[in-house]
Amino acid sequence: MTPYDAPFNVSTPKAAADSRAPLVDPFARAIRYLRVSVTDRCDLRCLYCMPERMTFLPKAEVLSIEELERLCSTFIGLGVQKLRLTGGEPLMRKGFLELVEQLSRHLRSGALRELTLTTNGTRLAEFAGELARLGIKRINVSVDTLDAAEFRRITRGGDLAQVIAGIDAAQAAGLKVKINTVALAQDNRAEIPALMAWAHGRGMDMTLIETMPVGEVEQDRTDQFVSLAEIRRDLSAVWTLTDIADNTGGPARYARVEETGGRIGFITPLSHNFCDSCNRVRVTCTGTLHTCLGQDDDTDLRAMLRDHPGDDGPLIAAIRGGIEKKPKGHDFRIARGEGPAVARHMSTTGG
Ligand code: SAM
Ligand code: SF4
Repeated sequence: MTPYDAPFNVSTPKAAADSRAPLVDPFARAIRYLRVSVTDRCDLRCLYCMPERMTFLPKAEVLSIEELERLCSTFIGLGVQKLRLTGGEPLMRKGFLELVEQLSRHLRSGALRELTLTTNGTRLAEFAGELARLGIKRINVSVDTLDAAEFRRITRGGDLAQVIAGIDAAQAAGLKVKINTVALAQDNRAEIPALMAWAHGRGMDMTLIETMPVGEVEQDRTDQFVSLAEIRRDLSAVWTLTDIADNTGGPARYARVEETGGRIGFITPLSHNFCDSCNRVRVTCTGTLHTCLGQDDDTDLRAMLRDHPGDDGPLIAAIRGGIEKKPKGHDFRIARGEGPAVARHMSTTGG
């Protein structure tokens, strides 16, 4: 048991006064999970994620590796036990391995239970060995189709073979890989049962995600939206799915597929709201804290990092102030003609 397993008692003045007291939001949800976008840049341009001519942020606006390290370490000091590095494409970020190396000390100390990343896999073959050496045990790799031409079209130019080579390298290095797939009504719905069989056949769990209305893209997302309840029906026509308890505290609901022995997760922000047990917050690559993916609440942590280089007090106070604003939940809707629920792209916020 770590000190962070202790029950919270935020209402006592002592806890409130303790600058190291763990983070608890107004709905008594303990914040254990941080996702940080380390860059808004990406080598792919997935149709549902960003426009073809995406305007990326000026470098000066993006947190440096040192700032990212300080920020993450501060959250870990406040009880965050799971840290996911994402983007944009995290493996495109210069200095990414140094960041992982710095943060891996929290794994060794026991403060951090898991350091992980979500990647599109294009550069994984190059990085997998080092990531494993630095203490990363599991990663998520996003794959929406196994058809090379479709992959090229959906990602606007991606090379599926590179991603498969990345997955091969990750598994060879001992990393546990989970496949993330965005369910798209026209682009991959028919392929999802086969995609799942492929993933399970390679010993990889799979998580399906409903397309979310975040950031402008060139297409109307209504055309691509398909409820995961429908996908589950598709899968159940072929396999036996048995619900299993979700102990990750995350938004996914899991089922075991009896015939394959693999797990399938469903992230359903639109058709089934998952906010009650939400234990996570996100920080963008510009150092803005968002306590909810689907609401426009934000807290500027970059100013605290840059204005107070030798003093974490103002940063901690800003983090606490942000957590106090964490909303009860979001109410994403996806409706024809309606723009995105929030303007920022997933690549900036960190999916
Ligand atoms: N580039 C990396 C990748 O693709 O895995 C990490 C960042 S990406 C933003 C993280 C995840 O968000 C990916 O699995 C991607 O498919 C998903 N994603 C991006 N835009 C989305 C959207 N509008 N709705 C749902 N999922 C989205
Ligand atoms: Fe890049 Fe990931 Fe967005 Fe695709 S989903 S464009 S790989 S950030």
